[in-house]
Amino acid sequence: MADLGARRRAPAARLNTVFSRKVCIMSRDPRYDILFEPIKIGPVTAKNRFYQVPHCNGMGFNMPQTHARMRAMKGEGGWAVVCTEECMIHPSSDYTPEPQARLWDRQDIKYLALMVDALHGEGALAGVQLAHNGVGAQNLYTRLKPLGPTHQAGVTGVPTQTRGMDKADIKEFRRWHRNAALRAKEADADIVYVYAAHDSTLLMHFLQSRRNQRTDEYGGSLENRIRLFREVLEETKDAVGDRCAVAVRVAVDELLGPDGIAADGEGREIVERLAELPDLWDVNVSNWENDSVTSRFGEEGRQEQYVGFVKSLTSKPVVGVGWFTSPDTMVSQVKRGVLDMIGAARPSIADPFLPRKIEEGRIDEIRECIGCNICVSGQLTFTPMRCTQNPTVGEEWRRGWHPEKIEARGSDARVLVVGAGPSGLEATRALGQRGYAVTLAEAGRELGGRVTRESGLPGLNAWARVRDWRVGRIREMANVEVYLDSALTAEQVLDFGFEHVILATGATWRRDGVGVNNTAPVPGSDGPAIYTPEDVFAGADIAGPVLVFDDDNFYMGGVIAEKLRGDGLEVTLATTESVVSAWTAHTLEQTRIQTRILELGITVVPLHNLAKVGAGEAELSCIYTERRQTVPAASIVMVTSRQPNDALRLELTGDRDRLAAAGILSVQAIGDGDVPSTIAAAVYDGHRAARELDADIDTDMPFRRERIHLEEAS
Ligand code: ADP
Ligand code: SF4
Repeated sequence: MADLGARRRAPAARLNTVFSRKVCIMSRDPRYDILFEPIKIGPVTAKNRFYQVPHCNGMGFNMPQTHARMRAMKGEGGWAVVCTEECMIHPSSDYTPEPQARLWDRQDIKYLALMVDALHGEGALAGVQLAHNGVGAQNLYTRLKPLGPTHQAGVTGVPTQTRGMDKADIKEFRRWHRNAALRAKEADADIVYVYAAHDSTLLMHFLQSRRNQRTDEYGGSLENRIRLFREVLEETKDAVGDRCAVAVRVAVDELLGPDGIAADGEGREIVERLAELPDLWDVNVSNWENDSVTSRFGEEGRQEQYVGFVKSLTSKPVVGVGWFTSPDTMVSQVKRGVLDMIGAARPSIADPFLPRKIEEGRIDEIRECIGCNICVSGQLTFTPMRCTQNPTVGEEWRRGWHPEKIEARGSDARVLVVGAGPSGLEATRALGQRGYAVTLAEAGRELGGRVTRESGLPGLNAWARVRDWRVGRIREMANVEVYLDSALTAEQVLDFGFEHVILATGATWRRDGVGVNNTAPVPGSDGPAIYTPEDVFAGADIAGPVLVFDDDNFYMGGVIAEKLRGDGLEVTLATTESVVSAWTAHTLEQTRIQTRILELGITVVPLHNLAKVGAGEAELSCIYTERRQTVPAASIVMVTSRQPNDALRLELTGDRDRLAAAGILSVQAIGDGDVPSTIAAAVYDGHRAARELDADIDTDMPFRRERIHLEEAS
């Protein structure tokens, strides 16, 4: 093993000598000038072409200050336009428990104004995406009756139907929308949306022939189905158009072929019919899982094939999204006449300072979104969003974290970080940014830990960005030293005598099947043909037929099955859940994953636990009846749970006197080495550990809580 003394004996192991130092261009590349041209949108002007389209965030009306600070950060980072998420216009559109913005009455104005004022302070325009969810509204909180174009079954899983709106309802809806627009104007918003996208809004439901089966002037022909959209658009312009731009958000393709709105059919006709009416066209594909397709299933610029026609039909500015992180792709979209403004949700979450980094010629510093949709999972679990790449998102207000700035170091202490996975890399990077002298020791021959390993799985290549961005920053830091091939023991850590030790040693998948459903090792799991995901990463020679047993039920079981099938093996995927990779419903991927698994010819056995491993076979047990079935299995890959690699921590912290004698002031475990979780959680923990070193943290309440005060609620 190379100990840290190897820095003297084997300098080639030092990262700073492995990589050549980057030459920074600190001014804008003229090729990107076009991205910084101002764009007129009706009565307002955006200072450049960077446009944060509406996106959910899990904060909404519940946490107006958390929300306002998160959005303001993007204004500071150079986005010319920053929008809210869906902003409900009336209590008959209630998404509870999902938090969304609201403009139900005058009291909501001041919450919206928090965001608008903060954005104006940064020189950005504020957009408000007014919305009514129609057949998508559950109204669990308000208990008002859901409304739709015609009577129909609800689409939310709640056993409530939707009432077909009569003419009086339509009149009321138009009044609600107009009043909400006036409230948005009173909050000083610059752009007000009329929203018909994502299969989740009433105006979209009127456009869709499958949901709108009316026989009056609001149903039937497209001209009739578009009527309400046109009326509301005209009324919004009339109400606020003197001072606010009125944008439309329209899904021009639902990816349903002839069953839905399609770019070569009604999607095109909608744009043709309304071409010059709005001040801006914000166009996308529906539904959300198509719009925010993960990197596992779609690439940058993917929506061009659907939205590319829009600009040819209107002189108004067109904005669209496409997981844009490369300025060259953005320039290409503008120059080729695809888009006028570069829309972004996820890239603006992963890096709120993306425009400013392009403007200042700091392209290498862009923290590129990895397309994992962990941000989406915040909204879908009704919690403030989190991001794999940007640990500060959601913490701008409650912890005062800034994505670019960090407190200078609180002492001259030297820090040893052990392990260069996502948590160790982030802790090292952020401590280095604070100015600490940091030494990072990694046992393996490459950096990145699980991210390096997992990015080799089918479709997960972009996840390597978690490593690459951090390694890129670290290699610019003269105060950080990195050692590969350095598996440290407790003795060595004590000998080195760094004042602070951060253990980011990761976790190991269990081989014995223990997880959610098996609390004791599965009988027979000590046999020779039992593998874990780590064995798969290491290229183990796995014989088929293989059983992948998934009791973890996030992405790993499904993607391992896909990889082994790709290797030509016969694969059965048994899961304790009712569907494959169940938790990926929160990252909008479950349907695609299950479809791919089935199309690959993988046999799926849902709702079964692994009861016993036999010779060349496995016994599965029904979750409900415990009835058994046998499946052929020359090999079994266990995807059940992980054990933190905590031996080093236990040894070091077991003898406090030795620690003190070695001059070590603190030892802490972070990331998977402490609590195995998502990559996002590991990055977050590394960041937190770096922020908190030498800081005075109130461990009883380590962040500000956001509460609506009683006097405000009266
Ligand atoms: P996390 O997601 O928490 O960052 P990972 O499993 O991705 O965890 O990374 C942990 C890293 O720590 C791995 O690259 C592993 O090789 C390294 N590691 C584990 N134990 C040691 C050790 N004793 N000395 C140095 N590196 C270690
Ligand atoms: Fe991108 Fe993932 Fe961050 Fe979402 S959570 S913004 S998809 S890196």
